[in-house]
Amino acid sequence: MTKHPAPDLRDELVTASRILFMKDILDGFGHVSARDPEFPDTFLISRNIAPGLVTHADFMRLDFNGIDVEDSGHRPFLERFIHASIYRQRPDVNAIVHSHTPSVLPFSISKRKSLEPVMHMSGFLSGEVPVYEVRDHGHVGCDMLIRNSDMGDELARSLGDEAVILMRGHGMTVVAPDVRLAVFRAVYTEVNARVQAMALTMGEYTALTSEEALAADETNSAQNQRTWSLWETQVQNEVTR
Ligand SMILES: [Zn+2]
Repeated sequence: MTKHPAPDLRDELVTASRILFMKDILDGFGHVSARDPEFPDTFLISRNIAPGLVTHADFMRLDFNGIDVEDSGHRPFLERFIHASIYRQRPDVNAIVHSHTPSVLPFSISKRKSLEPVMHMSGFLSGEVPVYEVRDHGHVGCDMLIRNSDMGDELARSLGDEAVILMRGHGMTVVAPDVRLAVFRAVYTEVNARVQAMALTMGEYTALTSEEALAADETNSAQNQRTWSLWETQVQNEVTR
C-alpha cells in the first residue's frame, strides 16, 4: 500500500490537535484521528506525541487492529485501539477525539448525576451519555487504559450509536462524521460539563428535552464552520483568549 492520502486531511488534523490543545480539551495526553477516505479501513493519527506539538510529518496510518500499515517507524499511542475499534464498528464515524478533560471527568465518576445537554450548543448529547466502566468488563485492578482490541471493542459497543462516551475515572471519547464536527463536539462537551456543574451547585435545574436537543443539534451541525474558522485563525496566529 504505497498511495498516500490527500495531504489536506493531515493538515486538518494538525489544526484540530492544536485547537483542542488551545481549548484545554487535550493536554500532554489525548489524541484526534480521522478515517482515511482513500483507504476507509484505515485511519490517520499522530505518533505518540503531545497534541500541541503535532506536525504534518507526525501522522501514521493504522488499520482496525491498530497496526501501522506503512511501517512508518513512528511509535503509536497505547490507546490507538479506541479509534480502531470505533471505526470498525461505526461506519458513520470519520473522526474521533479521545481526551482526559478535567471538567468532564466528574460526570464519569458521579453516582448521582449523568452528563446531559443543558445548553443549545450541546444538543448532540441527546439521549443517554454512556459511561464505560472498565470493571464491568472484568478488568479489575488495571491501569484504566484501552490497551488492546478487546477493550476497544468493549468501549465501541458501550458507545453504541451515541456521539460521546465517558470512561469512568479516565476521560471521554467523542465521535463525528468529520474532523471539524468532532472538534466542535469535544469543545462543547467540555463547556456543557462546566455549565452543568455550575448549575448543580445552585440546586435543581432544567435540561433540554430530547426534542430540543435534537433540534438544536441539527441547527448547530450546519453552523460549525464559524467556530472552526475562528479557532483555526487563533491557532495560526497563536492568539489565545
Ligand atoms: Zn486515555
